[in-house]
Amino acid sequence: MKRIVALGGGESGVGAAVLAKVKGLDIFLSDNSSLSPEAKATLDKYGIAYEEGGHTSDRILNADEIIKSPGIPDTAPIVSEAIKAGIPVISEIEFAGRYDRARKICVTGSNGKTTTTSLIYYMLRNAGLNVGLAGNIGKSYAYQVATEDFDIYVLELSSFQLDGMYDFKADIAIILNITPDHLDRYGHDMQNYVKAKFRITRNMSEQDCFIFCDDDTVTVGHIKEIVLRARMLPFSERHEVSEGAFADDDKITLRYEGEEWSLPTEELSLKGKHNIYNSMAAAIAGKIMNITNDVIRRSLATFKNIEHRLENVMSVGGVLYINDSKATNVNSTWYALECMDRPVVWIAGGTDKGNDYSEIADLVKAKVKALICLGKDNRKLHESFSPILGTIEDASSAKEAVEKASRLAQDGDVVLLSPCCASFDLFRNYEDRGRQFKQAVREL
Ligand code: ADP
Repeated sequence: MKRIVALGGGESGVGAAVLAKVKGLDIFLSDNSSLSPEAKATLDKYGIAYEEGGHTSDRILNADEIIKSPGIPDTAPIVSEAIKAGIPVISEIEFAGRYDRARKICVTGSNGKTTTTSLIYYMLRNAGLNVGLAGNIGKSYAYQVATEDFDIYVLELSSFQLDGMYDFKADIAIILNITPDHLDRYGHDMQNYVKAKFRITRNMSEQDCFIFCDDDTVTVGHIKEIVLRARMLPFSERHEVSEGAFADDDKITLRYEGEEWSLPTEELSLKGKHNIYNSMAAAIAGKIMNITNDVIRRSLATFKNIEHRLENVMSVGGVLYINDSKATNVNSTWYALECMDRPVVWIAGGTDKGNDYSEIADLVKAKVKALICLGKDNRKLHESFSPILGTIEDASSAKEAVEKASRLAQDGDVVLLSPCCASFDLFRNYEDRGRQFKQAVREL
């Protein structure tokens, strides 16, 4: 019997183990740290053997195949041992794809994945289709393949998931944008990261569709260097495209199979330049899936943004508080600042992933009146912004940051939490940071 070992007992590892079990494979799950009670309950329910708090080499290196959780780097000792021993190491998505006959719409990019994936899912649901939502979001893909029977999946894929993909094929692949992120995991080489993202197009044929941003120089540059057989459907905010979507000042236009159709930008429920991109990408996917213009329009007009992404919290004393805690890199904060039309008291900081703040210096100069640094080590923010900002203060909790911001903000201003950084120095994760921010705002 084929022996599978799942490394990592988070959402994807447990899901992969359940699928392996359901398919009658010999499965063992191993996690370096402790497993959550929910994970254990699921493993017990399915009678899956597991260990936690360390890896036993003997029980792992006898595997025919290893399914590695995206959180574990290739440099982890047990993974390098497995690779050295010639054991194939794949991702949960690759594994689950083998057992799934559904049509797959796959979304990647440095920013906007969750938003766009959720928007496409919402649209397909509105069209009455039997569709599942998975990948880097919600219940794992493998778990759903084991327990559900969907005709279509919309999958959010991170570069770490794509790394372990070989034979998987998307029917529709979307790359929203490629800007520096996670370079610590890619040997500080942007090209490695770009190649990981493009794995989403592997194995695609002429019948498959590739949706991408024609304004993204990194994406377009890479397309020129590779052979892609899929049908190309670009979207742009800068120029017309012969097939795909483009936006001008007041509308987005879709061109698909000889038909042209426009809808006013003001009807889109998601605001900001970046969301025009996300909406265009989703609308093209909708056209390919034969969704009617009416359903596409209604879906784009009524979609509710997910928590922590430019989420309006509330107004206090004429000051609007916005939670963009999910902005964990410089590019996502660029888009947040770009769509601010009132003076901004900006809360930023946290764990720096190698940020280059010069990319947003002009925007900060134009829009920000004061900066509150919310991190353990705020030196880099001070160094980068003291030449252009008169007021920079430090805070070591969300509450302190909100209180300081409220003192600096005046009627008509915005207080924006858009940190550019990961949250792990002061918070459990970005959700925790966002919730503490919102709580502090409610207590003002
Ligand atoms: P991801 O899942 O890729 O992390 P999200 O949809 O969760 O993306 O959004 C993450 C952050 O990036 C949010 O702050 C959001 O406002 C911003 N963002 C969303 N879409 C884009 C985009 N197309 N380009 C740049 N930033 C974006």
